[in-house]
Amino acid sequence: MSSTFFKPLPTYLAKRYRGWKATTFDENKGWYQRLVEVGQHPRFMVISCCDSRVRITSIFGADSGEFFIHRNIANLVPPFKKDVEDYGTSAAIEYAVTGLRVSNIIVLGHSNCGGIKNIFPHFSNPGHADCDETIFIGKWLEILRPGFERIPKLKQTDENLKNLEKQAVVVSLENLLSFPFVREALERETLSLHGLWHNIKSGELFYLNQESGNFEHV
Ligand SMILES: [Zn+2]
Repeated sequence: MSSTFFKPLPTYLAKRYRGWKATTFDENKGWYQRLVEVGQHPRFMVISCCDSRVRITSIFGADSGEFFIHRNIANLVPPFKKDVEDYGTSAAIEYAVTGLRVSNIIVLGHSNCGGIKNIFPHFSNPGHADCDETIFIGKWLEILRPGFERIPKLKQTDENLKNLEKQAVVVSLENLLSFPFVREALERETLSLHGLWHNIKSGELFYLNQESGNFEHV
């Protein structure tokens, strides 16, 4: 390789790491040692967006070993399908449920989601150029189309973007039900599913009430 693409860590990050190692890590060495000896036994799997403003472990004050986290664009779960190539999310769910035997899966949506904002005009007008210019993003967000069909007003307003962000949670929960091993765990009552939507600006957290079909304050 003629050019050097792989560089050392930027200095400010190396500094931050050393600070963590000298404080948080060194003060809790026993805990980290135990995590290696007994392995990980998280009770929660969290599926959230890649968005850097969604700080799952901070919101719940979670420590190492507590959350098994999978992040993707717009916190989407694809429907269960065998023989597909893009199976990263499905593989994470399979391991969480059949390997780690988590007792809860949380799908965490959020406000001001760039992925949702990007796909909205594309859903309204399939000829819209934004998503056609991407190789992967537009195709990935197609998972959300059934959610868009359920939004009563097709105009792009803040309210409708929020509705679509919440639909990303609903569609993902529905798609989770299409995984046979998720179904089995739900029927055995060893697993629960939870839908959440987080407002980044106000810090509010809402949960999906299955009976009312609404997102209500936590
Ligand atoms: Zn997002």
